Order: sequence, then structure tokens, then C-alpha cells
Amino acid sequence: MGVQFRCEDVGVACSAVTDAGSPEELLGKVQDHARSAHGVELNQTLIDYALTQVRQTPGR
Ligand SMILES: [Zn+2]
Repeated sequence: MGVQFRCEDVGVACSAVTDAGSPEELLGKVQDHARSAHGVELNQTLIDYALTQVRQTPGR
């Protein structure tokens, strides 16, 4: 079981898709992406919202 986050799911005009094996790992990757690609430092409100938009992906 994996998790996936898409910027477009939170209304950001960005086609990036981030995959990870756990929500904690995903959050780290999304924070890095937000910082480097969007110049945004995620605060707790944004993190909480992003976590509501995380998709479960089938594990292989
Ligand atoms: Zn993005």
C-alpha cells in the first residue's frame, strides 16, 4: 500500500505527482516539492489540508 499526492488535487496548477510508501514519507517529499517548485513553506494548516487529499495507491 502506498500513498500519492497530486498538486492539482489542492488546486495548484502543477502536474507533479508524488508517490511514497507512507504518509510520513510522502509529507517530507511534498514539503520538498512545495519548497523547490513553488517557493512555499508548508505550515500546519497546509499540511493538514494536503493530508486530506492524499490518495491510497495499490502496493506492488
Ligand atoms: Zn507542484
